[in-house]
Amino acid sequence: MFEKILIANRGEIALRVLRACRELGIRTVAVHSVADTEAKYVKLADESVCIGPAASAQSYLNVPAIISAAEVTDAEAIHPGYGFLSENADFAERVEQSGFAFIGPRAETIRLMGDKVSAKDAMKAAGVPCVPGSDGALPEEPKEIVKIARAVGYPVIIKAAGGGGGRGMRVVHTEAALLNAVQTTRAEAQAAFGNPVVYMEKFLENPRHVEIQVLADEHGNAVYLGERDCSMQRRHQKVIEEAPAPGIDRKAIAKVGERCAEACRKIGYRGAGTFEFLYENGEFYFIEMNTRVQVEHPVTELITGIDIVQAQIRIAANEKLWFGQKDIVFRGHSIECRINAEDPFKFTPCPGKITNWHTPGGPGIRVDSHVYNGYTIPPHYDSMIGKLIAYGDTREQAIRRMRIALSEMVVEGIKTNVPLHQELMLDARFIEGGTSIHYLEHKLADRNEVKKS
Ligand code: ADP
Repeated sequence: MFEKILIANRGEIALRVLRACRELGIRTVAVHSVADTEAKYVKLADESVCIGPAASAQSYLNVPAIISAAEVTDAEAIHPGYGFLSENADFAERVEQSGFAFIGPRAETIRLMGDKVSAKDAMKAAGVPCVPGSDGALPEEPKEIVKIARAVGYPVIIKAAGGGGGRGMRVVHTEAALLNAVQTTRAEAQAAFGNPVVYMEKFLENPRHVEIQVLADEHGNAVYLGERDCSMQRRHQKVIEEAPAPGIDRKAIAKVGERCAEACRKIGYRGAGTFEFLYENGEFYFIEMNTRVQVEHPVTELITGIDIVQAQIRIAANEKLWFGQKDIVFRGHSIECRINAEDPFKFTPCPGKITNWHTPGGPGIRVDSHVYNGYTIPPHYDSMIGKLIAYGDTREQAIRRMRIALSEMVVEGIKTNVPLHQELMLDARFIEGGTSIHYLEHKLADRNEVKKS
């Protein structure tokens, strides 16, 4: 096992990784920007190194500074968390070339999955069900593009191979709009991602977002840890996640989960990963793979009892998976609310000083957050300041516990989206379960209409 790990991230995930390391008896190095000097995980880490100014480009994305920090502190491995450099294949390569272990998949796997066209090709070949569409990149020839769209059937969606974060996509409803849309998406993709390659998919009108968590080791073993439903989204950002996904047949999950595990074995995947699917009319359609730990990993941890971050570290240290698929027992239900420092109605970010912070507790409640009383949220980064996670024997119990937890939560000095979560935990459609990825946007639009009239 490693003796010392450098955590190349910030916020709640830096603290989460630090806790996993401590439990495994591993010493930690926190790297931080000037803006995060007062962060809790920086103070708790065994060592810390300031790697640059507040702007992420000069600190959390500064590869030479991070590698030097690992060198001067004699760290053996680097955990990239999520976001920042976590899915940057060049970074993973530099880390390994510099003699450190990268806690994640091999650089070539990250590269394969980072290009959505090659990812889809690989998954199709491995037997993972994909959204029907163009086989690979769209050709230049307009006539060919029109032919492909007719075969797929309208509406279609044009997506950038290099896209991410919900950008670089365009829905097309009619043939008249097709060629223009392809051209515009290509130009945007070139400008935003430096890659003009686009592809086409059938546009699913009312899907749910259901994803499969996997773990795979260096020795050819791979398992799936069930699914998460992350359909409650605003502007493609997840707001609430839960496991298991309400109302989906367990046999269907086992079937798609087994396909994902098999795909990991086929591509030689290493570490934790997530296969994201759209789910509509009882069918799963792969859209992309995330080659890192996800924000919403705790809901899976609570229903399986498996520590995903510790598993990432043990796998990076070359350990064999210490359990098989049959040993994984899914028990109860878990829900996560992402707590953001933002206006709960206008959604504008709300950084600043937290004058009073009190977190809930009690049976089945977990809070993953790096903030504390008197902490000042810097304006330079993501607005998520923590995650409130509830567990219950049933979904009903998890919802009830979440309602109580939200009512106990006190945050003063800044605005948060806690009132939105309170509203959603009482929402009849959410309580019923199985809402589509458009539900929250529609609900928020209705809320604005009511306010205007
Ligand atoms: P990104 O990497 O930018 O997040 P994804 O491929 O994961 O891109 O797609 C982001 C979101 O766009 C999905 O969660 C879904 O809401 C929507 N989307 C993508 N592809 C389709 C599709 N074929 N049909 C309907 N919606 C889609």
